[in-house]
Amino acid sequence: MIAVLKSSATPQQVANLAEWFEKQGIRVNETKGEYCTVLGLIGDTTRVDMDLLQGLDIIESVTRISDPFKKANRKFHPEDTIVDIGGVKVGGGNFVVMAGPCSVESEEQIVETAKAVKAAGATLLRGGAFKPRTSPYDFQGLKEEGLKLLIKAREATGLPIVTEIMSEDQLPYFDDIDCLQVGARNMQNYELLKALGKIDKPILLKRGLSATMKELLMSAEYIMAEGNSNVILCERGIRTYETYTRNTFDLSAVPMLKELTHLPVVADPSHATGKASLIKPMSMAATVSGADGLEIEVHPCPSKALSDGAQSLTPEQFAGVMEAINKCRTVL
Ligand code: PEP
Ligand code: MN
Repeated sequence: MIAVLKSSATPQQVANLAEWFEKQGIRVNETKGEYCTVLGLIGDTTRVDMDLLQGLDIIESVTRISDPFKKANRKFHPEDTIVDIGGVKVGGGNFVVMAGPCSVESEEQIVETAKAVKAAGATLLRGGAFKPRTSPYDFQGLKEEGLKLLIKAREATGLPIVTEIMSEDQLPYFDDIDCLQVGARNMQNYELLKALGKIDKPILLKRGLSATMKELLMSAEYIMAEGNSNVILCERGIRTYETYTRNTFDLSAVPMLKELTHLPVVADPSHATGKASLIKPMSMAATVSGADGLEIEVHPCPSKALSDGAQSLTPEQFAGVMEAINKCRTVL
């Protein structure tokens, strides 16, 4: 349920009302907007007397919300959430490009890529250290060593880093990481989501391979319900019957999610298409769809990449994509 308060409501009146709800076992999520204050009410609100509430002179309106996601819901929090990743803001008009290799492979590879993507205009460095691979026989990532190399690349360039965490046991290694990615395969790993809700670092939550938007939002809710609101959603393609592309890029999810939630929504054309030749057009399309940012795989030599070479761009190709994205941003 949400209660929109009149702008004339005093802080004391708001506090009294919140206390009245809390006494009935209802949690109150207060959002102060420019023009009004919204109280998001979470819990069993079935016994709340709607007529009594509507009659209070500080109440503008009261609405029951049937959506199962509450904290992530835009109705609860009408203004865009802005997430800060090591000083780089995402959301609320702040557009980011996170770029880098699928996997961190060596110091030279990650530092060289970080410098190249920064020169082209990327604002965040991505790179996988713990890799969720479909086959157990494929390269599984450099793990803790990979995280250390990412930190070296951050020292060399100043770019904050985004990297995947696969289980809550790995959390101690991520103390010095700016943004933790939850990969598509872990979108419904609820124990991991709950653990990430108890820290305050930004979380990049990728849509599951066959997840609906509602399931993605419910996974964000798991993180937020534990207290961490620094969640960024990522559309990275979903599994369909199509085989020419690795996945089907569901770009309609970007504006749809932005209607449903106040959280930033970014898009990943690399995993969505699986093909380097499609990254430029789909990056442009994702930008124009209203995404708050893009995640793009870049490798100094894609043919030698230990993972996802077919969808990785060379630094030169990436620079061309950045130019195209910047042009698209001017029409928004
Ligand atoms: C990745 O970003 O390298 C990755 C594994 O992505 P996803 O979880 O979307 O497949
Ligand atoms: Mn990858």
